[in-house]
Amino acid sequence: KKITIAIDGFSSTGKSTLAKQLANHFGYVFVDTGAMYRAVTFFAMQKGYVNATFFDKQALINSLSNIKLQFKFNTDLGFAEMYLNDVNVETEIRTIEVSSFVSKVAEVSEVRSKLVEQQKEMGKDKAIVMDGRDIGTVVFPDAELKIFMTASASTRAKRRYDELVQKGDSITYEKVLKNVEERDYIDTHREDSPLIMADDAIEIDNSHLNRKEQFELVLELVNE
Ligand code: C5P
Repeated sequence: KKITIAIDGFSSTGKSTLAKQLANHFGYVFVDTGAMYRAVTFFAMQKGYVNATFFDKQALINSLSNIKLQFKFNTDLGFAEMYLNDVNVETEIRTIEVSSFVSKVAEVSEVRSKLVEQQKEMGKDKAIVMDGRDIGTVVFPDAELKIFMTASASTRAKRRYDELVQKGDSITYEKVLKNVEERDYIDTHREDSPLIMADDAIEIDNSHLNRKEQFELVLELVNE
């Protein structure tokens, strides 16, 4: 039986890692919706619509129809990469700059409705694992399995910091923690689809779980 698996939660809780593991295990499609919000943000940065002190929301809304988002599976990496207007932006969308503007862009209702519509379409045949903030509440309210991931802000910042340092980013832990906390705040306080746990979601706090333990826990839930 094919099902839809919705994974939501705070930033850097390892949603994508878990979603990828599940998708590989079941032969399902994996969709990282954060990558879509990041790609729209990167587009806005390139056009000069957003920077640290300025955000021209209306200019972004007006050019939404010029944004084409696609996931293309990379067989070497084993997951799909994000393409913005036919250009692979997988690396560009993971920078701390994009991370620091993305929640502002994700607050815009017109952006959300465009992306949610596309996400619903991707999941219409089920057999999909989608991760984000509003998957169990807005995109797939009927998903058979909903997981809500949490971990302390310091645990999450440490994980994200280690990842960025490994990629060669020269960043401080304090800066990463501040970004994680800011995104938590904006994501939980925005008017349109704030980050909340769906009533029928199962909460997993993975502050003290490693990847393998977490995966085994979720496999048991799928089998129930
Ligand atoms: O998951 P990731 O950290 O890459 O997401 C980046 C940002 O995109 C989040 O902080 C959030 O503001 C936004 N987002 C969202 N809804 C989703 C996925 C991501 O608002 N479904």
